[in-house]
Amino acid sequence: MILQTHGLHRAFGRHEALRGLDLSVPEGSAFALIGANGAGKTTTIKVLMNILEPSEGAATILGVDSRKLSPRELAQIGYVSENQDMPGRLTAGQYLNYLRPFYPSWDRELEHSILSDLRLPMERKIHELSHGMRMKLALACALPFRPKLLILDEPFSGLDPLVRDDFMQGVLQQAGEMTVLISSHELAEIEGVVTHVGFIDEGKLLLAESMDHLTTRLREVRVTLEKEASVPQQIPDDWLQVRAIGNVLSFVSTRFSEETIAGKLAALLTDIRRVDVQPIALRSIFTTLARAVREGDI
Ligand code: ATP
Repeated sequence: MILQTHGLHRAFGRHEALRGLDLSVPEGSAFALIGANGAGKTTTIKVLMNILEPSEGAATILGVDSRKLSPRELAQIGYVSENQDMPGRLTAGQYLNYLRPFYPSWDRELEHSILSDLRLPMERKIHELSHGMRMKLALACALPFRPKLLILDEPFSGLDPLVRDDFMQGVLQQAGEMTVLISSHELAEIEGVVTHVGFIDEGKLLLAESMDHLTTRLREVRVTLEKEASVPQQIPDDWLQVRAIGNVLSFVSTRFSEETIAGKLAALLTDIRRVDVQPIALRSIFTTLARAVREGDI
């Protein structure tokens, strides 16, 4: 595991933002941290980056306790966050000149290719850049040293769709060589890129799985009946978001199996005309889990 947390707690006054978070990110993965507003994603990332200290528990990153991160490890970690601190009086070009010597593995050619993709005004002072331009600059600073680990906290906020594409393209250029931990609400943007998903709720990790596994076991099922549909009295415990509209009964199965679905449906419903099964998009995974948490189903 390239990073791990064990029983991580972090309190702000009396509010516990993290309440025993256990997270493991496998090396080489592109791991999405998802969860509702205030779930604790940014706090987790800040603890990992040693911007915040844990109140209890520990985080290990590149084999080192987060509280002991040294320039050696930091030279292998790219970090991009929405509220990144950058020296506003410097131009983008001056800032890159300043950063390069800190990173033994800085690749000037890669830097040029990233900068030409991102089309940043290098002569303008950072405080004169728009929010989106600053995010692009943060990425341009985080990628050229080919980090072993790239941590992105809400990297798309304020970015226009073209820049989002450029941004993901920049990240993808190096995918496979590095591990990526990304916290984002822009689930459509990261859908095709992430290999693992961790769902945080109220400071705890409720679920962490590979996308392959998750999309195999979670399926949207639509059952069209010959008559008006109604929600069955006894709902199997792996069915979430069960709805009856017209003659269609729909639900998300969290333990879908091709072999057992027909039998399960036949035991509960009559007059089935057809059954449609769809893989579930990351956005629906999020809304399904978030609703299930809210309704006490998981
Ligand atoms: P979002 O998706 O809205 O960015 P998040 O999952 O990143 O949310 P965090 O920013 O980690 O959530 O916040 C978790 C909780 O901790 C929230 O309830 C927030 O109000 C609280 N919190 C975070 N930082 C502080 C702080 N500096 N002082 C007090 N409370 C804080």
